[in-house]
Amino acid sequence: MIPFNKPYITGRELEFISDAVACGHISGNGKYTKLCQKLAEESWRFHKCLLTTSCTDALEMAAILLDIKPGDEVIMPSFTFVSTALAFVRQGAKVVFADSRSDHPGIDEHAIEHLITKKTRAIVVVHYAGIAVDMKPLMEMADRYKIPVVEDAAQAIDSFYIRDGATKALGSFGVLSAFSFHETKNIQSGEGGMLVINDPKLVKRAEIIWEKGTNRAEFFRGEVNKYGWVDVGSSFLPADTIAAFLYAQLIDILDIQQKRRSLWNNYNRLFESWNSSRIQLPFIPDYATNNGHMFYLVLESFELRQQLISHLKANGVLAVFHYLPLHLSDYYRDKHDGRSLPNSEYFADRLLRLPLYYELTFEQQKFIVELIHDFFEKTNQ
Ligand SMILES: *Cc1c(COP(=O)(O)O)cnc(C)c1O
Repeated sequence: MIPFNKPYITGRELEFISDAVACGHISGNGKYTKLCQKLAEESWRFHKCLLTTSCTDALEMAAILLDIKPGDEVIMPSFTFVSTALAFVRQGAKVVFADSRSDHPGIDEHAIEHLITKKTRAIVVVHYAGIAVDMKPLMEMADRYKIPVVEDAAQAIDSFYIRDGATKALGSFGVLSAFSFHETKNIQSGEGGMLVINDPKLVKRAEIIWEKGTNRAEFFRGEVNKYGWVDVGSSFLPADTIAAFLYAQLIDILDIQQKRRSLWNNYNRLFESWNSSRIQLPFIPDYATNNGHMFYLVLESFELRQQLISHLKANGVLAVFHYLPLHLSDYYRDKHDGRSLPNSEYFADRLLRLPLYYELTFEQQKFIVELIHDFFEKTNQ
């Protein structure tokens, strides 16, 4: 049996968790929380990082920090995970969905501007599969309208955008960005996330929202002599034992990324050498790097994709689709403005994600690709 995902353990997680326990500060914002945040800030030049219990939480913090209120409009892709929208919907926002590109499931940078109205309060982009959205024109356009950009960088750890000879980490463009350390992501702590605050003016309030609406963080730095309730917020910080787990992954990230990229490249090589006109391979624009988060195929039809999933499953391989577009979801269909989003629907019907995890072997990949080859021989269409 080849699972779709298998969370990778570096081997040092328990050592750091033991140390966190021995240190006696097990709740949030302890030694390992600070170590992780500092390492992320230094590695990717993020202004300020706060660990959260999930990317969903980090996105909720972003929605609160931007003061999203009932009636405000937020533009985002429909082809994304529920959390991207959920965080803003909980603040009462109306989500205005943009379509995907035709060559890539990521948001179509040219499908955003015409959706802007006087009520637009944020643009949320998702770096699908860790592949950068074209950030330069997007940021220029958002600046013109003075609309803040939030990056849902859940899948985009250690991935970059390259323009005019400069390389900049994804997550460092938006006023706020959110990462996920869910076990399905490149580096993980079971559940986990991180909010990046790139606008220095938002840091103080972010810490307050993070700490249940109190100025506890300032108090422990000795900046104020008492702490209390000063704003809204929630309990967004993870226990330091979670951060200790994450730290083991963060210090190993170069090895993890290298391994994932080599597996990604191997899939790509195997499919390219087969040179089938019947499957579309992932497209990576020249301004984007690949962090090996996801390898997917785009098939000719929904039916063919479902048949291939069954064929793989019957042979012990779990491959999965992605996503049900949010504008067609049970929850939002009636609230959506009715526009059809053809590219989003196209990828939702045809995209198939193949197993990709640290411990996957080249032999297993060869087996998977051969199974797919057999499938096309048999269907003989
Ligand atoms: C995984 C994912 C999330 C949610 O992450 P959690 O840490 O599970 O909350 C949000 N957005 C995208 C694009 C994701 O891939």
